[in-house]
Amino acid sequence: MKHSNISIFIPHVGCPHQCSFCDQRTISGAQHLPDGSEVREICSKALDEVKFPENTEIAFFGGSFTAIPRDYMLELLTAASEFTGEGRFRGVRCSTRPDCIDREVLDILKKYGVTSIELGAQSMDDEVLAANERGHTAEDVEKASRLIKEYGFELGLQIMTGLYKSSPEKDMDTFLRAAELYPDTLRIYPVVVLKGTRLAELYESGEYVPEPFERMTELCGEMLRLAEEKGIRVIKCGLHASEFVEHDMVAGYYHPAFRELCESRIYLQKLITMAEGFSLLRVAVPAKDISKAVGQKRSNILRMKEMGVEVRISPSADGRTKIIERR
Ligand code: SF4
Repeated sequence: MKHSNISIFIPHVGCPHQCSFCDQRTISGAQHLPDGSEVREICSKALDEVKFPENTEIAFFGGSFTAIPRDYMLELLTAASEFTGEGRFRGVRCSTRPDCIDREVLDILKKYGVTSIELGAQSMDDEVLAANERGHTAEDVEKASRLIKEYGFELGLQIMTGLYKSSPEKDMDTFLRAAELYPDTLRIYPVVVLKGTRLAELYESGEYVPEPFERMTELCGEMLRLAEEKGIRVIKCGLHASEFVEHDMVAGYYHPAFRELCESRIYLQKLITMAEGFSLLRVAVPAKDISKAVGQKRSNILRMKEMGVEVRISPSADGRTKIIERR
């Protein structure tokens, strides 16, 4: 059964840092701080509307939840916890920084019915973390992840590709090190350069030069493929479509269907392998994957044509990908 979240955004208030890429107000679209009564209102309305509450979490996203003033955190948790348990929502989900996790805070989260914790790891390379003013190390990510698992919470990791001073190789290394922590979920965010951030300054001065967009879809596509192989659920690839982001973005990797672009790259690789040594390839793919296999604006078909291969794609009767003909 599909998992869903009741998302409640808590803006920058909790964060003791200012990462190079961050403008929480733009990313979450939220500028106002909800209080306990607003959380109750949101949850009570959602409880009437959501079909499978037992599969739904109340999710505090947007800032660094465990770093917000303690009284405020408890006010929000108290309100949310009234809506979890038997016949109500499955639990509470929150996102935070790796250096804002310790036993004391995990004891509190456990007590108030938190079930999942997402850590913004962003990179597992200390030089990249420092260059982007994250204020924590890769070791902090590892320590916090182990502690979260030890307490029995579901662990989510967020990584960011294309950061200042990173490279596709370092990004892949980050993915592999994150995978070694056995997260239950992973979010892959290719960086988006937002107006007013330090990263925008670095970009405008020419100090930060992003990799080509295509390179990023290829890299994230490879991460998606490996995550599937390793049994890691990627719950997001690319920032969610938002008018705030579209309005405030000056560079970087935003596309409203970024994940589909990456999945399309996976199909391109498959087509190249299948067509090796042939000039015509007819392939059947699951009907739901046709647009990914063909690519946006037929990009995969055109790319294969440039390589001297005519590709024809049709829906498969049994839902499997298979070669129908090649010569
Ligand atoms: S830790 Fe998170 S909320 Fe804080 S500045 Fe960095 S990205 Fe923004």
